[in-house]
Amino acid sequence: MADTILVVEDEPAIRELIAFACESSGFEVLRAGCVHEALEMLDTHRVSLILLDWMLPDLSGLQWLEQLKRNERWSALPVIMLTARTTESDKVAGLDAGADDYVVKPFSPRELMARVRAVLRRGAAEDEKTVRCGPLTMNLARFSARVDGNEIKLGVLEFRMLWVLASSPGRVYSRSQLLTRVWDDAVGFDERTVDVHILRLRKQLSGTAAQDLVQTVRGVGYKVVEPMHRGQ
Ligand code: CA
Repeated sequence: MADTILVVEDEPAIRELIAFACESSGFEVLRAGCVHEALEMLDTHRVSLILLDWMLPDLSGLQWLEQLKRNERWSALPVIMLTARTTESDKVAGLDAGADDYVVKPFSPRELMARVRAVLRRGAAEDEKTVRCGPLTMNLARFSARVDGNEIKLGVLEFRMLWVLASSPGRVYSRSQLLTRVWDDAVGFDERTVDVHILRLRKQLSGTAAQDLVQTVRGVGYKVVEPMHRGQ
């Protein structure tokens, strides 16, 4: 399915120019002339990226960008700012507010589409840093672990250990394999260190739907059970 781009621009001629470029590149396009319309589009459609003009009639693009990035529902949605402003401080303000890129008017449609594709590719790469295993979802780029959607707090080493295990469900890792994969410098640690952190990890997962995910394989090491094969 084609990605959908929301074009937020109050000048109809420019909005159509951008929309045409997007459609010619195979994207679906939604059009909004102000932030109010853009919010309606976001509520009713699945949007992959926003092209956001800086100067809008109801709220500045920059102010809206700041609101989006504070809202958990939209914070990961990529935004490219479009603007006639060219000073360095404006550019910094846009990027500081969470814009993924910044295109200065007048821009060539070709350049704009190259930026769009680059930002979407970056987003896809971030998604690849996500592991799902039963009720557990981990994202390496955000260093977040969720069980049934609820964030759980893990220590750095526990997070890395769970990441390694959950990335290959069913695969058994020996303690020394975990040492070399999880610790930056495993020199000076022995295999009991791994047991200590597995114990901590289980404590951090206890009481959640993921509490039985990490299993001991007697005489070998540890694994995360494939949820499909639990109990076999
Ligand atoms: Ca404008």
